[in-house]
Amino acid sequence: MLIVPEATAQELVSREDAFTAIESVFAAMGRGDAYNFPVVREAIGHADALYGFKSGFDRSEMILGVKAGGYWPGNADKGLTNHQSTVFLFDPDTGRPTAAVGGNYLTAVRTAASSSVSIRYLSRPDSKVLGMVGAGHQAAFQMRSALEQRSFERVVGWNIEPSMLDRLAEVAKEAGLPFESVELQDLCGQADVIITITSSFEPMVMRDWVKPGAHIACMGTDTKGKQEVDSALVAAATAFTDEVAQSISIGEFQHAYAEKRVSEKDIVPIGAVVNGDHPGRTSEDEITLFDGTGVGLQDLAVAAAAVKRAQETGKAQEVEI
Ligand code: NAD
Repeated sequence: MLIVPEATAQELVSREDAFTAIESVFAAMGRGDAYNFPVVREAIGHADALYGFKSGFDRSEMILGVKAGGYWPGNADKGLTNHQSTVFLFDPDTGRPTAAVGGNYLTAVRTAASSSVSIRYLSRPDSKVLGMVGAGHQAAFQMRSALEQRSFERVVGWNIEPSMLDRLAEVAKEAGLPFESVELQDLCGQADVIITITSSFEPMVMRDWVKPGAHIACMGTDTKGKQEVDSALVAAATAFTDEVAQSISIGEFQHAYAEKRVSEKDIVPIGAVVNGDHPGRTSEDEITLFDGTGVGLQDLAVAAAAVKRAQETGKAQEVEI
């Protein structure tokens, strides 16, 4: 089997590679050619850690595998990131392991690619102002990728701890764009595209604050109980997601679904838009809202891209198992 270490995956998989892989796997999910298996996520009763698996099979690309890992809150003190993951790929014909790929960078870049696919397919083409809600580890990845999707002219940001926004101001500077730290309501009143990427357990972005025609990518909610936007906003928007079942159980739509403000049939898989089976946005004033819950097939798609690049460049390490 091939080993693609964390640093090699980071060196070889570009934002564009990740976008292509995620767009393609969403399309495969939309056609019914790729499916995710039930997620396992458990507190292990040691080191306050949450550990789990996300897995799936993409029949169109013959990619079978699992991402294993989770969240170790004490890692920062050890000089490690709190989120740790590794992707294992298997030969769908034999079950033999084909690759182990470092998954930390890939998780960030595939999550950014997910919101970016939604921005490219659903936001108004004339979007000028990007609003960033959240400034943690994922936020800079989200912002870099989003800036490549539209001709944004400025970025506004909000974080519960405002000093953390400095890192997003740096990203804006790199891109040659002005950046302003603002109150959350002002951010919602100005932004044409909003990305939420926090660990919030309370709604923060309210229905009446958001501009007509805005696109919102809700990326932080990936667990039961988390919430970033008002469920009235979900009800008022046209709702899109990576996977409907996950969005109503552990994603942002869990709350609106529990309150019976949306049903499964109201939620459009983004793959249907990528495939041209759903028109996506149909008016300039419509609010579109994408719930990026983060599915295992995304992890497998970017890991397969890392393996391909590592083989092309001779950077994969081969071991017998
Ligand atoms: P992080 O810990 O580095 O950053 C957390 C962010 O949330 C910071 O901006 C922090 O200030 C903010 N925050 C914390 N508590 C808050 C609260 N009560 N109200 C408002 N903001 C709060 O985490 P990260 O790696 O940047 O991940 C952010 C979120 O995205 C997490 O919830 C994580 O589980 C989720 N995530 C989702 C996916 C996906 O595929 N959808 C992938 C990776 C991470």
